[in-house]
Amino acid sequence: MKSLKSVMSVTLRSRFIIFEVVRRIMQFFFLIFLNSAIFGLSAIPLVLPILLPSGLPYRIAGEALSAIQKMIYDSVFPLLPLASIILFSVLTGRALCGWVCPMGLIQDILAAGETRKFVISPKTHKSLIGLKYFILGLILLISVSLSLAQLSVAGRVYREMLGLFAQAPFNVLSPSDTLFAALPRLLSAILISISLGFEYLTITPLLIIRLVILIAILFLAVRIPRAWCRYVCPQGAFSALISRFSLLGLRRDIVRCRKVGCRMCEEKCPMNVPILKLSAEKITDPECIYCLRCIAACPVKAIKPKFP
Ligand code: SF4
Ligand code: SF4
Repeated sequence: MKSLKSVMSVTLRSRFIIFEVVRRIMQFFFLIFLNSAIFGLSAIPLVLPILLPSGLPYRIAGEALSAIQKMIYDSVFPLLPLASIILFSVLTGRALCGWVCPMGLIQDILAAGETRKFVISPKTHKSLIGLKYFILGLILLISVSLSLAQLSVAGRVYREMLGLFAQAPFNVLSPSDTLFAALPRLLSAILISISLGFEYLTITPLLIIRLVILIAILFLAVRIPRAWCRYVCPQGAFSALISRFSLLGLRRDIVRCRKVGCRMCEEKCPMNVPILKLSAEKITDPECIYCLRCIAACPVKAIKPKFP
């Protein structure tokens, strides 16, 4: 006869799988919906705080960070993209990262296998988190300094110096743009050149760098869940700056939690959020993407969403 413990562990595992399947369905739904110009849907005047490359031919919404860069380049105050980041982050934290962003979906799929994950110490994790804020700062510094420089004669020289990086520095190297826009273009160019002869195929050093970055990020995603989102993504950093004040949060029932003291929630968290060290009343950690894996993993249902 099966012990009570093994029955509980099977029930818990099934619950966890159901939560993950529901989230994956939603992520695929949003991927299709956000590219539904292919079904004749017209574009909506909305930029979202996720990575949604402009090279996607059928997308119906924009990417907030690329809109910010382009508007600053054109010396226009980026009111709409800033408002979008603030509004979504205040209302739902980084839930769009967990449920909508295509780059998040790809990483979740890659991390779903049983491959052993790298263990990142809390100290290293804390230092690496800072990288994405540094990248965001650098992007804004380039965009703002170029926009100001364009008011003087030095602006043209500076713009020429920056070359491809002038208008939207992040998007030139963004693995999301490479995966969803540059790579399909490259594949179709390869197919065409097969019939025309390879002399028509141009592979630039920049394209090679982009592909190397993409492969590195995809490889990391297998070993470190959401490595890109945790440590590198500047859009995630922008949302994280505000999401600590979000209305959506998590609540942990300490009494239930102490009964088992299992740490399952922390073990299953893809973003390495130190759930048990945070105030149990309301958790609005900037790294939390509201994937709800901690809720699904808790054997005593001690964690619940909290709004507001
Ligand atoms: S952190 Fe960046 S890549 Fe990750 S889900 Fe959020 S916007 Fe997308
Ligand atoms: S704390 Fe919970 S909801 Fe937030 S990222 Fe971690 S597992 Fe997901």
